[in-house]
Amino acid sequence: MRVLVDCHMHTQLCGHATGTLAQMVRAVADSGLIGAVMTEHLPLKPELDPDGIYAMRGDIDEQYVEQLRRIRGEWGGVGVVIGVEADWIASDPEWTRESVHDARAKGVEVVLGSVHFLDGWAFDDPDMMTEWDNRDVQAVWDEYFTQWCAAARSGLFEVMSHPDLVKKFGHIVDNALDYYDEAARVAAETGVLCEVSTAGWRKPVNELYPHETMIELLIQRGVGLTMASDAHNPSEVAYRFDDCAQVLYQLGARQIAYPQREGRVTWLEL
Ligand SMILES: [Zn+2]
Ligand SMILES: [Zn+2]
Repeated sequence: MRVLVDCHMHTQLCGHATGTLAQMVRAVADSGLIGAVMTEHLPLKPELDPDGIYAMRGDIDEQYVEQLRRIRGEWGGVGVVIGVEADWIASDPEWTRESVHDARAKGVEVVLGSVHFLDGWAFDDPDMMTEWDNRDVQAVWDEYFTQWCAAARSGLFEVMSHPDLVKKFGHIVDNALDYYDEAARVAAETGVLCEVSTAGWRKPVNELYPHETMIELLIQRGVGLTMASDAHNPSEVAYRFDDCAQVLYQLGARQIAYPQREGRVTWLEL
């Protein structure tokens, strides 16, 4: 029996997921995990989230950090790390930097770095999907990985989320390996952890994020990996973790990372 943790999950606080913080923590315990990193979406620039459907709104102290501290105090058996998922906003890295620093000052312990917006376009939102018809897929991949690498290099994040999210709806280029190779090189150079997310198995592309080819490159380069469901409701916590652990083991991974506060990492045997 493997000892695992889920390092990416959401709640109703972000406006597009269901389940309270307490329900998600209960699901973590019920799934047989030893812990989790709760990673609600950090508030966005208002112009990127005018309807409040992508991220938490307002001050995160009371509604999020304080609540998680309370829940953590009540749940001795399962570890809870207070994390957030932050958006790398390429057009305004300074804003990203400030919002991440602000979150840490308020008690956030682990920050995931994600690229969900390309010049204001939420390319992974099913409601924005028709925009893909107007785009050159190669150019989108170029832009996505340029931003992903810049985010990894920024030093703002402990973990880079769903590394090849750009493929979510099945838009895949012939030379994906070139992008994977560069991203793995940058991750190794910066020491950032990379997430392996089973959410891709619930999406049209039906693959892990990132593709197994990139996972292998990350392992070869010694990049630490986390396991994540990106759960948006309690039933998705630890989604297909046994399958994922098996894939990771077959690709050569022997440990996975459980990020903790102050940059510490607990390593779990696979
Ligand atoms: Zn995300
Ligand atoms: Zn997420």
